[in-house]
Amino acid sequence: MINILKAMKHVTGREIVNRIDRYLADPRLEPEALLRKRWAWIWMVVTFVFVLITAFFELVILKAWPIWWVGAAFGVSYLIGFPVFRRSKRFDLVINIVFSIFIIVVFFAMLQIGGLTTSMGFVFVGLNCAMGSVLAGNLRWTIGMFILYCSTILFVGILQPYLTTPDYITPAVNTITFVGLALWINACILFLVILFMKDKNRYEKAEAEKVRKIDEAKTLLYTNVSHEFRTPLTIIQGMAEQMEQHPDKWLKTGPGKIKVQSQVLLRLVNQMLDISKIEAESMPLDLIHGDIRKYVQYVAGSFHSLAENRDIRLQVDLNDKPIYTDYDPEKLMLVLSNLMSNAIKFTAPGGHISVDVSGTIEKKEEKIEIHVRDSGKGIPQEAIGRIFDRFYQVPDKNDQTPGTGLGLALTRELVKLMKGNISVTSEVGTGTEFIIMLPVTRNAMVEEDNGISMVHSEPINSFIQMPERGKEPDFHSAILSEKPILLIVEDNMDVVEYLISILEDHYMIELASNGKAGFEKASEIIPDIILTDVMMPQMDGFELLRHLKDDIRTDHIPVVVLTARGDLQSKLTGLEIGADHYLVKPFSEKELFLKLNNLLELRRKMQQKLRSMPSPLYHGNTQYRYELQFLSRINSLLDDQLQNEDFGIKDICSNLNMSRPQLYRKFTALTKRSVGRYIRSYRLHKAKEKIESQGKNVTEAAYESGFKNLSHFSTSFREEFGYPPSDLL
Ligand code: ADP
Repeated sequence: MINILKAMKHVTGREIVNRIDRYLADPRLEPEALLRKRWAWIWMVVTFVFVLITAFFELVILKAWPIWWVGAAFGVSYLIGFPVFRRSKRFDLVINIVFSIFIIVVFFAMLQIGGLTTSMGFVFVGLNCAMGSVLAGNLRWTIGMFILYCSTILFVGILQPYLTTPDYITPAVNTITFVGLALWINACILFLVILFMKDKNRYEKAEAEKVRKIDEAKTLLYTNVSHEFRTPLTIIQGMAEQMEQHPDKWLKTGPGKIKVQSQVLLRLVNQMLDISKIEAESMPLDLIHGDIRKYVQYVAGSFHSLAENRDIRLQVDLNDKPIYTDYDPEKLMLVLSNLMSNAIKFTAPGGHISVDVSGTIEKKEEKIEIHVRDSGKGIPQEAIGRIFDRFYQVPDKNDQTPGTGLGLALTRELVKLMKGNISVTSEVGTGTEFIIMLPVTRNAMVEEDNGISMVHSEPINSFIQMPERGKEPDFHSAILSEKPILLIVEDNMDVVEYLISILEDHYMIELASNGKAGFEKASEIIPDIILTDVMMPQMDGFELLRHLKDDIRTDHIPVVVLTARGDLQSKLTGLEIGADHYLVKPFSEKELFLKLNNLLELRRKMQQKLRSMPSPLYHGNTQYRYELQFLSRINSLLDDQLQNEDFGIKDICSNLNMSRPQLYRKFTALTKRSVGRYIRSYRLHKAKEKIESQGKNVTEAAYESGFKNLSHFSTSFREEFGYPPSDLL
C-alpha cells in the first residue's frame, strides 16, 4: 500500500512538473533557462499561496483591516506579474521586479504596524523575496535585492524609536503571524537547498558523462590513427625487406611504392597537425587582399595536367570582373586542393570537373561563392551527412581509392576558420558539387600577385599520387594446384599487392576486397587458409570471422587476422570469435610466413589424426571442435542410412546444404581423403564391427552395412583390412 502511494506520488509529481514545463514552454529559451524559469515560477506560486493564507488570516480571522492595502498590493503585482512572467524572454527581470515591489510594500507595512518588534514576521516576507531571486538566476539582481532588503531593515531599525504600535496588533496576532511566516522562510530555505543539491548531482553526472564520451572519442581516434599509420608502414617496411632480399625483382619498382606510402604518411601527419592547430586556435589567418578569382584560377589550374593524364576535362570558369577581397592563400589552397583531388580521385576517365567563382549577396552581406563540380561517382545520400567526419570514407566494395578520410574534415575546419561555410550536393552516378561561401572583407594589405608567391607548397603536392592500380594477378584454377589456397581479404590494394609479392611463390592466392565478398568467396572455394584485415567496408574482419565460424562449410578454415588495431581488446575479440592468429601491422614477412606455415602444419597433423578409422568421435574435444562436429554429422547421417546402398555423396550434400565441390574441398581439408572412399571405409568398419561384436554372419553384416553385392563387399573388405571377412568368423 505504502509502495503504491509512493509510486502515485512519484507519477503525479513528474506529471505536474511536465505540465508546468508545457505551460511555460518557450522556443526562444535554452533548456537551462527553461529549468530556471520552471523553478522560479513554482516559487512564485508558493509565495502567492502563502500570501493568500496570510491575508485571509490577518484580515478575516484577526480583523487587522487597516493593513488591507498590503494584500491588495501583493494581489495586483501577481495579477500583472504572472502573465508577463510566462510570456517574457526576460522572465528573470519580471520576477525580480515583482519581488522588489514586495520588499518595498513590506517595508511600509512594518512602519505602519510598529517596526521590528511588532513586525508580525513581515520581515521574513521580504527575506523570502530576496531569496526567491536566487531562482531567477540573475546574479546582479539577486545582489541588488539583498541590498534592498537589508536597507529596508536598517531603515526600520533607525526609525524604530519613532514608531508606535496600533491597537489591532496584539501580542497574540504578532506571535501567530510571526510563527507562520517563520515557517514559510524555512520552507524557502529547504526548497533552495534541495534544488542546489539536485543541481550539483546533475552537474557531476553530466561531467562524468562528458569525460566518458571524451575518453571514447579519444580511443576511437587513436585506433583510427594507428590504423591509418600502420597500413602504409607495413608496405614501406615490407618493400624495404623485399628490396633487400630480392633486389633484382624489386629495386626498380620498390622505391616508387615506398615514396607513395611516405607521401600518404606525410599528408596524414600534416592534416592531423593542421586539425589540432585549428582546434587549439593556434592557426591564425594570414590574410592578404587580392583578386580571389585569379588565385582560384591558379590553384585549380595546377590540376590541369593531372586531370588530363586521367582523361578528365577540367574547366575553370571565372567571373569577368575581378573580385577583390581578403583571403588566406595558404588555407584557401589547402581547401581547394582537397576538393580538387577528391574530384579527380572519384571521377572516372572521360568525366569532367568544373570550378567557378562568383560574387553574391546573402542576407545583405557580400559573399564569394566557389563551386567545385564533378561528374564522378557521387556520394550516397546516407553518407553525405558523414563525409565531413574525421576518418570517414564512404564504403565501396569496388573501389579502394587511397585516402585517409581526413581531407574533408580539415577542409571544413579551414572554411570555418575563414568564417565561411561549405555545403555539398551529390547524386550517385551523376556527380558531386561542393559549394564554399566566404565573406568579403577589405582590411588586409594588397598583394601584387594575389598571394601566389606567398604559399609554401604547390597545390599539387598536397595531392597523393595514386599508386598504379595493381592488376589482380591472373590466377589459374587454384583448386587444381598443389599449393595451399590462401584467401586474402583486404581492402587496401597496396597491402594486397605487397602480400601477393611475398606469398605468391608459396600459395595459390585468391582475393576479396571486403568481409562480405570474402565470405562469399570462402564458402565457394573453401580455401586452406584465410588472411583478413579488420577494418573494411561492408563487413569488417570480425564479422567475417563470425560468419565463417557459423557456417559448416567454412568453420574449419584457419584464419589469420591482420590488422592495424593492436589493442588488447581487439585481439581478445578476434581470438574469442575464433581467429587462429592475430598479426599487428606492421608485421615482418618472416612472422607472417611462420604463422601461416604453423597453421598449415597443424592442419596436416589434424588430417593425420582424423584419417584414422573409425574417426575419433566428438566428445567435447576442443582442439578440433569444428572439424569433429562436422565428421560426426556425416557419421550420424551414414549410421541412419547404413542399409541404404544408394545413400551417397549427393544425399550428404543435400543434408548439409553444401555443393559437391564444397563438400569435397572441406572433407579433403579435414582428412586428406576423398568422401567417397570415406563412406565406403565407414560402411566396411561398421560391417566388421557387426561380425566381430554382434555375432552377425558375413551376408547379414554386408547387407546391413549397405553392400548388396557380396563379392564387391569381400573385395572391398580385403582392400581395406588386408584380409577377407571370412577370417573374422
Ligand atoms: P579521403 O582523404 O579519404 O578522400 P575525405 O575526407 O577527403 O577523405 O573524403 C571522405 C569521403 O568522401 C571519401 O572517402 C569519399 O568517399 C567521399 N568523397 C569526397 N569527395 C568526393 C567526390 N568528389 N566524389 C565522390 N565521393 C567523394
